Amino acid sequence: MDSRHYRKGRMDNPTNYTIAINKLRERGVEVEDIAKITHELQTKYIKDLTLEVCIEHVTRVILKREVQHAIFVAIDLDVLAEKKMLSEPLQSIVESDLGLFGVDEILALSVVNVYGSIGMTNFGYVDKLKPGIIGHLDNEGKSEGRVNTFLDDIVGAIAASASSSVAHNYLG
Ligand code: MG
Repeated sequence: MDSRHYRKGRMDNPTNYTIAINKLRERGVEVEDIAKITHELQTKYIKDLTLEVCIEHVTRVILKREVQHAIFVAIDLDVLAEKKMLSEPLQSIVESDLGLFGVDEILALSVVNVYGSIGMTNFGYVDKLKPGIIGHLDNEGKSEGRVNTFLDDIVGAIAASASSSVAHNYLG
């Protein structure tokens, strides 16, 4: 078997892609919401960049197996925390989105890592400014009974990674 195909087969999982998209949707996140952030990040460098192109790159990012895995871990931990099913002290830490807790960001970095330094820089940027859906998730997570501790970082990481993917495509 062609090793390139073997690798592609291992990297991309269309079935888990669909599951990941559905899980994101159940948590109020559409691919288009993520693509809007990617567009915002790159439109200053690429003037004619359309939202459609950004949607394509966000899709490409979510097709990656390691990204799907990070989405599954992030969403399950948030949902388990909402159901108060984690053990202490993790339950309280995740539930309150404790500022000193950095595992959510570390998990998100595992997504960004796939895309090199532009992804890293953009992740820092979205983490600070919380544009669009990230700000919405952050606020929603502050309301009673809702936990988005891991999800906001994962969404930021996907937007940043797609942004890097767009940049490599146009500028590289
Ligand atoms: Mg977080």
